Amino acid sequence: MPHDLNLLDAALAAYPRVALLEGPTPIQKLSRLSGLPDLNGCNLYVKRDDLTGLGGGGNKLRKLEFLLGEALAEGADTLVTWGGFQSNHARLTAAVAARHGLACDLILTPSAVRSDDDFCHNGNVLLDALFGAKVHRLARGIVPDTYAAELVDTLKGQGKKPFVMPLGGSSPRGSLGYAACASEILRQADALGVHFEQIIVPNGSAGTHSGLLAGVTLAGASSHILGYSVLATEEQATTTTLEKTRQVLQLLAPSSTLADTPIRVDGSQRGDAYGAPTEAMLEALRLLASQEGLLTDPVYGGKAFAGLLAAVRRGDYPAGSNLLFVMTGGMPGLFAYRSAFD
Ligand SMILES: *Cc1c(COP(=O)(O)O)cnc(C)c1O
Repeated sequence: MPHDLNLLDAALAAYPRVALLEGPTPIQKLSRLSGLPDLNGCNLYVKRDDLTGLGGGGNKLRKLEFLLGEALAEGADTLVTWGGFQSNHARLTAAVAARHGLACDLILTPSAVRSDDDFCHNGNVLLDALFGAKVHRLARGIVPDTYAAELVDTLKGQGKKPFVMPLGGSSPRGSLGYAACASEILRQADALGVHFEQIIVPNGSAGTHSGLLAGVTLAGASSHILGYSVLATEEQATTTTLEKTRQVLQLLAPSSTLADTPIRVDGSQRGDAYGAPTEAMLEALRLLASQEGLLTDPVYGGKAFAGLLAAVRRGDYPAGSNLLFVMTGGMPGLFAYRSAFD
């Protein structure tokens, strides 16, 4: 199906953006995995958004391009955000702040399911400190947005100009980063001569899914976006993703409309809770590492890849289907989950 990227690119160009990526990330075919007999002749590809260089890389840098653009346009000198101890978004916000000479305050909340030493001190939280962020570790039960509001008042009282980003950087502006990624993927697909029937992503704060969906919708492309929810239930994630996609489209093309139908969220891989390891995640993560030498993370990519493997093994996709899995990074999380691999 023909698609028009000029409209999408022109709409994106209206928003301030600071380049944090070196250029397009590669799309690679998983040749060994695609040849496994139980994968039913599907062609698996990966979009290497784990290879976005700054701060250890990952999907949050695409959002931060637009969030930093917005922050600098407002004259901000301090970036504030929140997440779990192992938040990749917090880690990359700290790296971006370091790179651009801004202060950074991170509000980190404990996990309901993990409290071992690696989880509390290794991985992302180790890197936050190296990037020079000021880390506020909240006790259980303290609501991060309330704490953030108070912190912002304090910072303003000190004459600072804080810019606050929501969980995962998934404001409509931040999510524009993945509308831009949709444009990048569609161009690469044209150059490769491959049509991706389905693009598969983890769905946490839903900005990645919503941005991609808004982008392909505005470009008039026929690729479907499927998100595996790892945080919210399937129903909640579907509602949030629809709402966010509409907000992103509102920024890009105020007169555009979106039906409810294109929202595809699969909640089957979430397991007991956000961040709780599952057998399927461990198997998927090990398979990708041992067959392709590629690393994904236990919280997001491992669960989404497990969902993709299950679907392909069930025969959900006809032989010859071209499926693109977006590798969103998060490798530091592996070191925080060491005990899950014992
Ligand atoms: C945040 C994150 C995601 C999920 O992206 P959302 O836009 O929050 O849905 C996926 N993978 C990794 C590694 C992440 O850090």
